[in-house]
Amino acid sequence: MKIHILLAVMLLGFASAGCGNTSEPEQGALHSRTINVVATTSMVADLVGVIGGDRVAVTGLMGPGVDPHLYKASEGDVARMAGADVIFYNGLHLEGKMTEVFEQMQRRDIHTFAVAESIAEDHLLGSANFSGSHDPHVWFDVSLWGEAAHETARALSALDSTHATTYTTNLEAYLVELDSLDAYVRHRVEAVPEAQRVLITSHDAFGYFGSAYGFEVRGLQGISTATEAGTADVQELAAFVAEEKIPALFVESSVSRRGIEAVREAVRARGFEVAIGGTLYGDALGSPGTPEATYLGTVRHNVDTIVGALTNVTP
Ligand SMILES: [Zn+2]
Repeated sequence: MKIHILLAVMLLGFASAGCGNTSEPEQGALHSRTINVVATTSMVADLVGVIGGDRVAVTGLMGPGVDPHLYKASEGDVARMAGADVIFYNGLHLEGKMTEVFEQMQRRDIHTFAVAESIAEDHLLGSANFSGSHDPHVWFDVSLWGEAAHETARALSALDSTHATTYTTNLEAYLVELDSLDAYVRHRVEAVPEAQRVLITSHDAFGYFGSAYGFEVRGLQGISTATEAGTADVQELAAFVAEEKIPALFVESSVSRRGIEAVREAVRARGFEVAIGGTLYGDALGSPGTPEATYLGTVRHNVDTIVGALTNVTP
């Protein structure tokens, strides 16, 4: 008899544990509390914060100056992701060393959303280094980031349909800001004569910038920073700079400046002086408390730095 009661209690226990394991009640409750978001890069964290507004608490994993191509999730990151309602990341292999962690989270039924992968494929650039894949640096084209904003609002609305109007309102306000930012970039680059619109940076992050705003772009390293530039790469780029009399090179906040310094030295050895035009925010936003801590501020900083360096220096 005792055994039967024990069995019944155990069965009840299993039944209620079974209920707790289904994610339905948890999801249903999302509308009544703040949504816990984990975001990988600072650009993605900024975007989800803007579209989610008061509805989301965003934890960003990668701070200022952090290179997403090389970033590996720490144990703490994995725990944060496991406890999140939803994980937002860039995708298109930008976070090249986190693929397994994302898959692990998907197996645990945690919602994941790759903002760059939500953009229409025919708007994406190919990757010269990896055939069949796409350049992940979509945020450098402001209109594409607007598409990512649309899809972010859509993803949040799917999770929390009760507040869909909030996400739509936040999206519409942000699209106005993005439109005016895009116009600002277009206006600023007009100051650079077409022949001088050549942007040389640490790695190939600026392809979308070049394509949207009419610049030829060259990076010392490829689309990913995972492969180090060799002497031949430095010499090839230096030959191009000296030949074309490019006035300035740019370092990136998330990549060591040594590579670009080496190119500058190699250009000097060829009898030409090239300036370092400044630091651009490549794969991470600026420090908290500065204007560059937001996407809007970063884009302004980058275009002002580029235009300033390419117009002030006489080749
Ligand atoms: Zn990159």
